[in-house]
Parts: sequence; structure tokens; C-alpha cells
Amino acid sequence: MLSEKQLQKLAFQHGTPIFIVDHDEIRRNYAEFKKHLPRVQAYYAVKAEPLPEIVKTLFDAGASFDVASMPEFDIVYENIKGMPDKRRQDWIWDKIIYANPIKPNETLRELDAYKPLVTYDNAEEIRKIKKYAPNAGLALRIRVPNTGAMVELSSKFGAASGEAVDLILEAVKSGLVVEGLSFHVGSQTTNFENFVQAINLAADIFREAGDRGYKKMNLLDIGGGFPAPYDESVKPFKILAQRINAELDRLFPKEVEILAEPGRFMIATAATSIVKINGKAVRDGKVCYYVNDGVYHTYSGIIFDHCHYHLKSFRKGPERICGVFGPTCDALDVISMSENLPSDLDLGELLYSPNIGAYSHASSTSFNGFPPAKVVHVNYKTSPTKKETLVRSY
Ligand SMILES: *Cc1c(COP(=O)(O)O)cnc(C)c1O
Repeated sequence: MLSEKQLQKLAFQHGTPIFIVDHDEIRRNYAEFKKHLPRVQAYYAVKAEPLPEIVKTLFDAGASFDVASMPEFDIVYENIKGMPDKRRQDWIWDKIIYANPIKPNETLRELDAYKPLVTYDNAEEIRKIKKYAPNAGLALRIRVPNTGAMVELSSKFGAASGEAVDLILEAVKSGLVVEGLSFHVGSQTTNFENFVQAINLAADIFREAGDRGYKKMNLLDIGGGFPAPYDESVKPFKILAQRINAELDRLFPKEVEILAEPGRFMIATAATSIVKINGKAVRDGKVCYYVNDGVYHTYSGIIFDHCHYHLKSFRKGPERICGVFGPTCDALDVISMSENLPSDLDLGELLYSPNIGAYSHASSTSFNGFPPAKVVHVNYKTSPTKKETLVRSY
């Protein structure tokens, strides 16, 4: 974890707003995932934060990737390109799943050459895949309970369990290969029952497909949703992993390959944003700070991810409830109406938000003429002798 002193130094060196990525923390998160879910290969969901430096760090650590568009595919493929030809050919499934159930025809056509692994959840998609990417392997995305997740996904994607086997058999009948099933329990799932129920549902569908003559499924993708430890209410990952392992071992023989698509879990705790106070006003008796980053930028997760980020002050003092607003002229640009902060902070002082790595900078815009925060990578591993900071700016 970067200290307040290190953070301040980086803000001083690079200016604000900045988005600081701690690659040691990414490696720690990946290692923790593997340690507690040894049977599961982690396919990092690139959409959580697609910076190529992050993809490279995870690739080097041994991760695979979940992509949902050609640009995301290309970011990952850059790393695969470095592998010897033979392995590159054989390894695409080991390294990439194209996990967007709805794919444009042009994308399927482009993907086909790679013999990709793709998800689907409806009959129209089978016809598209058959026509434009007949060499793809398929995973049927099924709908599972998303109860209590911070971001619900089951209303957009997933075949109902009643139609699942029909969709498997239909794809097979058209000459495609269905490798297995996938699901997503909803992002930031703190209700661990969701995983238990989803794995059980998947096992039922495996069984029914077998009963109806299709026994070739050998892959289960348990999706994303692994919660980041934003606060103490999130139970330890280890507890969730124990439940998942128990269900997997009980219901799926060793030959079935288990994949997961963690996004938030890998990256949420690995980035910190630092903002500067540009203005200050007292409105209805409340101190309001106007800072140089907001909901159209690094704090976009407030809108898109339903996530709340806390702001902290480097200078400590008696705290009061303050408002914190972003730099644009839009009234939506509110970071917090009630944040505990010292009320005597001056213009030019800095605030920071830890644990802001997921779905934040990734959905930043340049609205109102304010560019996204500058990205600073802290990656000590690249030079073990000399502590080195890599900087990439926009
Ligand atoms: C967004 C997404 C993920 C990542 O979800 P997290 O909750 O961040 O782990 C994984 N798989 C799919 C298909 C997704 O759309």
C-alpha cells in the first residue's frame, strides 16, 4: 500500500488530478485469488480498467483475460504476440475469452481466425456465430440470481434455465461446439449465496444436457462479481472462496475446467486518485469544496457503478460534514454531499480517494473540456534495484 507521503510526493511531481496505479497491489490481488481458488483460472475482465500496463502486469503474473470488444481484444493480444508461434495458436482460449454475449457480425468475422472462445445466450446469436465465426468455441451464458449485488446484470444477459439445454442442442445441431457454461452473479456480490446457487444451477444444466445426449461440455466459467474490500461489511475473500471450492468439488469432476472473470477484485484496491481544491464556498451553512476531478472523470463510478468513494485529507484536523463537487458546470457533478473532512482546508490543498481502481478512470470522459486524470504507474518490480516509477500521461 502506498503511504500518504508517497502519494503526496507523486502529486507534487506529476500534478493533479492523477490516478495512481500500484502494480504491486495488482500482483497481490492476483496472488490472493489464485491462492484461495487454486482450481480456477482468472480471466481479468478488462473493462474494469483497460490500461495496457495493467494488462501486461497481470499477463506476466499468469492471468488470462475476458474481453468484450475488438479494442479490448487487441490490448490483450499485444502480450500474446510475444509468445512463440505454436503456443500463440494453441493458447488463445487459455488467455482470452470473448465474454460479450452479443457480438457485431464484423467482430465475429475478425475473431474467427483466432478460433476464439465466445459466450452466447440466444438463438439469433447462434446463427450469427455459425455464419461469421464457425471456428469459435461456445459457452452458454445462463441467467442466475443477482440478489444483493451492487450492480445487477441478470436483466440484460443470460438464458433462462428452462431454455438453456435447448440453446445448447440448437448450437450443436448447427455444427458448432459448445464447450460449457458461463454466468455472472452481479458485480460486487457480497451475498455469497449467489455463487452457490449459480454453481448448482450450472451443474443441473450440465446434467440435463448429458441426459439429453450432449456430454461434451468441459468448461464452467463462474464469471465476475468477487467483491472488493471497500469496507468492513465485506466478508473476507477466503470465506467466499471456501464456499465456491466446496461446491465446485462436489458438483464438477476434475476434468471440467473452471474459469472466472474477476474485474473489480483485481484492480479496485490498486488505484488511488488525488484531486486539488480549486474553490470553496459555504452554502446553507455547509462547507463546499470544488475539486479538479469529478463524476464525468475518475469519479464516474458514482454514476455507472453505483459506487461511493470516500475522500480523505492529507492534513488532519477537526472534521465536519462537507460537500465535494467536480469541476464541470453540470449539477450532476457531485462527488459527495456529505463527506467528513476538515472544514478549514485551503485552496490548493489535496484530497485523495483510495480503492478507486475499478470502473472509474475506465469510464472517464473529457466532458466540458476537462481531460481525464493523468495516469501514474508505480511499478517497482520492473527494476528491483532501482525503485522506478513509470509514468504515462494523456
Ligand atoms: C463486467 C464483467 C465482469 C467483471 O465483473 P466484476 O464484478 O468486476 O468482477 C466479468 N464478466 C463479464 C461478462 C462482465 O460483463
